[in-house]
Amino acid sequence: MERMNTAYLSVGSNMGDREGLLKKAIEQLSVYPDILIENVSSIYETDPVGYTDQPLFLNLAVKLKTSLSPQALLSKLQEVETKLDRKRVQKWGPRTIDLDILLYNSVSIQTEVLEIPHPRMLERAFVLIPLSEIAPDDVYPDNTISLHQVLCEQRDKEGVRIWKKTDWEDASVRSEN
Ligand code: ADP
Ligand code: MG
Repeated sequence: MERMNTAYLSVGSNMGDREGLLKKAIEQLSVYPDILIENVSSIYETDPVGYTDQPLFLNLAVKLKTSLSPQALLSKLQEVETKLDRKRVQKWGPRTIDLDILLYNSVSIQTEVLEIPHPRMLERAFVLIPLSEIAPDDVYPDNTISLHQVLCEQRDKEGVRIWKKTDWEDASVRSEN
């Protein structure tokens, strides 16, 4: 099977066993034969953005290869969210797991159910900092800004702190599969 497309995801959790949920989400994704996890960033602890009266998040970024279309990939992410007991109670409220597509090759998609690049990624240090760890040289679609450059221009880095440095080569999530 050709998993020729490259996608980057943002994964977050602020309910229950946050680290366990992040690892379970990656494990569940790697079970799909048409998804190959290629890299995982360190885990960051981040202050909630938007609705701020909620627990701190753990966030990480994932690089994967896939034969799935962006829409089919989104369906798999939603399947995993459901398996990990994600309830859609409150927009931007606490969640067991959130799986977002940040980038898919260099495509731009704007539909009601799917927007790529993720529309808020450039404003979110909790997305950009983990992402830049595993994709420092990638170029944001439709312009010539590198992610590294975007990150250097980020003002609000205070709310994002390294929580656990992960070397994906040694990561337990990989050896368990
Ligand atoms: P958020 O991630 O913004 O906190 P949700 O996870 O509840 O909110 O997602 C709301 C909707 O966002 C999903 O039903 C999905 O259709 C849509 N969506 C649009 N673009 C994307 C994307 N790039 N990745 C994930 N979901 C997306
Ligand atoms: Mg989401």
